[in-house]
Amino acid sequence: MRRIKRYRISGGNVGTLLTSTLSLPTTPFPSLDGLSLHKKSIVIRDYAKVLFQQYGLVNWYFGYMKAKTTAGYCCWTRKEITLSKHLVEFNNVVEINDTLLHEIAHAIDFIDRGTSDHSPRWVAIALAIGCNGKRCYSKEDKTMPEGKHLYSCPNCKREVRYHKRAKVRACGQCCRKYNYGKFDAKYQFVYHGPKPVQISIPSPKVTPVHTNLASANAAAGTKSDRMKSLYDSGTTSISEIAKIVGAHYSHVHTVIKKHKG
Ligand SMILES: [Zn+2]
Ligand SMILES: [Zn+2]
Repeated sequence: MRRIKRYRISGGNVGTLLTSTLSLPTTPFPSLDGLSLHKKSIVIRDYAKVLFQQYGLVNWYFGYMKAKTTAGYCCWTRKEITLSKHLVEFNNVVEINDTLLHEIAHAIDFIDRGTSDHSPRWVAIALAIGCNGKRCYSKEDKTMPEGKHLYSCPNCKREVRYHKRAKVRACGQCCRKYNYGKFDAKYQFVYHGPKPVQISIPSPKVTPVHTNLASANAAAGTKSDRMKSLYDSGTTSISEIAKIVGAHYSHVHTVIKKHKG
């Protein structure tokens, strides 16, 4: 969970920044291929400084933190953006870039309004600078180290991991469900000892992004182009072609006739 500090300025904080004046980063995110963790950290820090310049974050500091559950953090009073070194270690460029832009969007928002949160105002800024505008990181798109201390619930049998060991821990789900949210020794977790998990960096999912219909069509080929290439490839069964292109039977007929003629 990204934590942010909120500062309220009396008299309202609507913001005057026009998000249309913001643009995507002019420098693309650098490649991290084959770099050691130390080198990656330096390359990302240098890139962050380039972005600070582009988005007017004057005298802002960029650093790293050891946080295991927070991917990135933006502190307005100290004027600093910090990324977790675990984010850099276990994630690919897409996720690292997105977290960096997420925090920069908070900084831009802070400068504009004197406050920041995950309101539509922040989302607009985030999207304008190329961040996906999602509120927090979720386990599906970012990999952060899981706690090495393994526990399980004697009742619902679920397994949980914690970074720190505590003498007494109980299953919150079961306590809520069967005991009005109060602690009950019945649902106390059983400790299985430290069992570290191995994490491997997932490769980025490459999905082509098309900003307009024309570029999407050019990349995919028009429907009739796709059908022509199918026809040229020697596929003769019309029902087969219709299955492949997902088109209406009679429409395939007319298009093929057109290409034949
Ligand atoms: Zn945030
Ligand atoms: Zn349970």
